[in-house]
Amino acid sequence: MDFDLSAEQVMYQRTVRDFCAAEIKPYAAQIDASGELPWVAIRKMPNLGLTGLQVEEAYGGAGLDTVSAAIALEELGWACGSTALSIAAHNGLSCGPISRWGTAAQKEHYLPKLTSGEHLGALALTEPNAGSDLAGGVQTMAVREGDEWVINGTKAWITNPKFAPVVIVLVRTDREAGTRGFSMLLVEPGRHGFTIHPPEKKMGLNASPTQMLTFDRVRVPAEAVLGEVGRGFQQTMQTLDSGRITIGAICLGLARAAHEEALQYAGQRRAFGKAIHEHQAIQWMIADAALEIEAARLLVYRAAWLKDQGRDFALAAAMAKLKASEVCEKVCWNAVQIHGSYGYSREFPVERIYRDQRLMTIGEGTSEIQRLVIARKVIGG
Ligand SMILES: Cc1cc2nc3c(=O)[nH]c(=O)nc-3n(C[C@H](O)[C@H](O)[C@H](O)COP(=O)(O)OP(=O)(O)OC[C@H]3O[C@@H](n4cnc5c(N)ncnc54)[C@H](O)[C@@H]3O)c2cc1C
Repeated sequence: MDFDLSAEQVMYQRTVRDFCAAEIKPYAAQIDASGELPWVAIRKMPNLGLTGLQVEEAYGGAGLDTVSAAIALEELGWACGSTALSIAAHNGLSCGPISRWGTAAQKEHYLPKLTSGEHLGALALTEPNAGSDLAGGVQTMAVREGDEWVINGTKAWITNPKFAPVVIVLVRTDREAGTRGFSMLLVEPGRHGFTIHPPEKKMGLNASPTQMLTFDRVRVPAEAVLGEVGRGFQQTMQTLDSGRITIGAICLGLARAAHEEALQYAGQRRAFGKAIHEHQAIQWMIADAALEIEAARLLVYRAAWLKDQGRDFALAAAMAKLKASEVCEKVCWNAVQIHGSYGYSREFPVERIYRDQRLMTIGEGTSEIQRLVIARKVIGG
């Protein structure tokens, strides 16, 4: 058993870490306040493959393995939650499905734009009344009229649509067919009847736009189907399995950043005549953070490795996402605690990191849904 990254992976990790330290982390507080993604840095990302992590090189991507993609997302999470989430959604929820199920024409049309560093992709699954229960709750419907699909409905909480040259939209195409009645459609903003609403006002991840979309008799050509008609639900579940590794990797980065801040602060702050890191209660928080981040990293990287081996990784990915997001919550909670009142101040990064990480037990499958997935696999049937 070999727990080491390859020489190329170590080199890639160093390169992305240096880029994030110089180009993203110094601006994280500023973009949290302004609500704007760091486009100066994003335009440089194609040089490091960050806008097309696992996209074929022919389309401008880096063609990386899943472990390397996780390495990159951990570094982005360490630098800035907003940037990490938008880049993760772009790669995992947009480039991923188009690379996997797109026709040659669809890939040629969309992937070079998506990997260019000028746009970010989006996937619209969630609706005002359907999140965890997509199969039962999705109402957005597409009806075939001649050579076109006509879409009506509303999507909610969608990352990146205002920057997307195309939004992948999960629709029902057959109301009677259960989970075989869904399809994914490629919808370009600008289509008549397609409205992208202003970004939601959120607790954190403020520079990553989260928007509602409405479709009022939006017409797209028959060729806009991504993958197969009737396979949209299965394609969604496969996309979310991969997305769980992605969110797990971001959690590692967020937790690492909070842990580093806490370590530094605990060495400087004095109480009762000594640095607070000499008090055992603080040492235990620091020890637990080091331990739990390492445990979560093993799960995240193992899930990525299983995927790279072509093996079933759904259970490993659910475990990795659940563990990493819950570890991240605890590590960030303790990092604020170690900072005392200063941790509650916008002057210190842990305040922002704590707000940013709160999404991670909710997005791409809540902790309850991860436990459900794990229980089903463990119990069987
Ligand atoms: C910042 C942000 C970005 C997002 N980006 C995207 C995006 O790009 N694309 C997209 O499609 N969506 C996106 N989402 C939506 C997100 O994926 C959903 O919010 C998430 O899946 C949960 O759905 P819900 O909010 O409808 O909660 P619900 O499904 O209504 O769940 C509410 C509560 O009930 C629990 N629950 C539900 N069912 C069960 C059950 N069977 N057993 C036990 N507990 C249960 C849940 O765990 C949760 O605690 C984003 C959300 C946010 C906040």
